Amino acid sequence: MSQQQFENFTASSLYCEKCKAAMPVRERLLLVLPDKEIYDYLCTGCASSLGQREVTAGDKLMARAAAPRRSRRAIAPRGLVP
Ligand SMILES: [Zn+2]
Repeated sequence: MSQQQFENFTASSLYCEKCKAAMPVRERLLLVLPDKEIYDYLCTGCASSLGQREVTAGDKLMARAAAPRRSRRAIAPRGLVP
């Protein structure tokens, strides 16, 4: 559900509550499953986990194939809508 948020979220720094600051994070491969990989983001200050990210095989392919941005939705001219 929250996957969409994570798509733009290849952050190199995240807010850490312990450090009370945006800290650089280290991405650690946490788990490798047949269809996806789960990465853990660790605070470089206190090593606590600040977040996780799932990368599915599909996501990888999409990321590679996807255009940088989805083209704007064409607006149907009035009167042509059935
Ligand atoms: Zn921290």
